[in-house]
Amino acid sequence: MVARHDQTTDPELLAALLQARRGTAFFARKLNELSDAELDGDTLLPGWTRRHITAHIGYNARAIARLIEWAATGVETPMYASTDVRDHEINFGATLSPIALRHLFDHSAVHLNVEWRDLPEDAWHHKVRTIQGREVPATETVWMRTREVWMHAVDLDNGAAFRDIPVPVLERLLKDITGAWHTRGTDAGLVVTVTDRNLTFGDTTSASPTVVSGPLAAVVEWAAGRGHGGVTATGPGTEASNGPVPAAPKWI
Ligand code: ZN
Repeated sequence: MVARHDQTTDPELLAALLQARRGTAFFARKLNELSDAELDGDTLLPGWTRRHITAHIGYNARAIARLIEWAATGVETPMYASTDVRDHEINFGATLSPIALRHLFDHSAVHLNVEWRDLPEDAWHHKVRTIQGREVPATETVWMRTREVWMHAVDLDNGAAFRDIPVPVLERLLKDITGAWHTRGTDAGLVVTVTDRNLTFGDTTSASPTVVSGPLAAVVEWAAGRGHGGVTATGPGTEASNGPVPAAPKWI
């Protein structure tokens, strides 16, 4: 008999699942506000239409569902056969009819939710592997999905903004992004301060850093490479010809 509620009772995991489900609902709302013709429109991601983003979010749910099946059964089922296969799938998905695209999003989201719901408590700690080759417990898939649905809802470019994203999600995103810079060593001389949360990230040992600061939502938007509204910059590099705020280092 299929349970109608989550198998896990871990309060932290249940809170994380709620954040992912809210993000999925938010993405659904922004998608459903678009007419079929508007799906052809541009997004905040260069070269991607709303069709590409919708296809990507749909296939992402299927890929993460494969990881949960892996965690449940112990039979290795990767997210994607390769990044080429993933990219090809997105380009194909973008050519689907509007109704097929919307079904892809809806059905894949429901499927993933069922996989999460029915995963036994102890299987959440089983290790799976992401497309980047990271070994992570199945619990990490919840954050992987959360990040995708909230950020790409903004990328749809029909009214969602970073300030619509819950604060805990924004904070974790900023930790991820600045952590990626640190791992790659691309944050030398760069400090990021969040004025409304008293948070500081980056190269805090630099004697003369470039400091980018602003409220949390604006800083994350900048750090994610989605614009620089609401942030200011001081120090070296801020007089560059392309504007007063330097572009954030790449993180993905
Ligand atoms: Zn994505």
